[in-house]
Amino acid sequence: MDLKIFLQNEGQKLGTVLDEHALVQLWAYKAFLKEYNQKVNLTAITDDEGIVTKHFLDCLTILPHIKQGAKVIDIGTGPGFPGLVAKIVRPDISLTLLDARGKKVKFLEEVAKLLDLDGVTCIHDRAEDRLKAAGYAKSFDLAVSRAVAAMDKLAGWCLPFVKNGGSFIAMKGPNFQEELDAGAKAIAKLGGKISQISEITLPGDITRNLIIITKT
Ligand code: SAM
Repeated sequence: MDLKIFLQNEGQKLGTVLDEHALVQLWAYKAFLKEYNQKVNLTAITDDEGIVTKHFLDCLTILPHIKQGAKVIDIGTGPGFPGLVAKIVRPDISLTLLDARGKKVKFLEEVAKLLDLDGVTCIHDRAEDRLKAAGYAKSFDLAVSRAVAAMDKLAGWCLPFVKNGGSFIAMKGPNFQEELDAGAKAIAKLGGKISQISEITLPGDITRNLIIITKT
């Protein structure tokens, strides 16, 4: 199977057209991730097909929900998921990548340099601490986060970064409902309102859910 064509076709089904430049950039990112992962543990998914489906395609699911030129923060981005994939495909966004682990942030800085990306800021900090720094609270159009924490805690780490009228997208697996119920109070207290829950099936029958919360 030609994985580039696979990614293009499946990306299109998710509403995203990938041009040649984006594919070249994603392939360079994948190669660098695999190489770096041999010395620093960044991801347990190391085969090409896994990276393309479980990382790249999964990350593409948020793109239809990102407005042109949006200021986006990815909380607990790890090796750049979903933020960096979004930025490669949508260079119009301005992106802040935040992670508590320095070794991951160093990797992100190196990838951003390798791919010559403009408008990417990499920050080594915990979300709850960075919120206290000037210029972060209520400053972003969109916060995104995948595989970082349960909804109650995650809402407290992500929603305060979002401007009124902006959104927070939590990327979750199939068993999100219990988490969402447990987080409902925290979300409401932070001015959040669940505006959409979108279920997506990735190749291999992988069920993913985007929980989209608007800050009112
Ligand atoms: N989002 C990436 C993904 O989907 O592959 C990484 C997920 S990894 C399981 C969770 C990441 O969240 C780790 O890189 C960890 O350092 C980061 N993290 C956990 N708690 C955090 C916090 N309070 N603030 C910032 N980053 C945090």
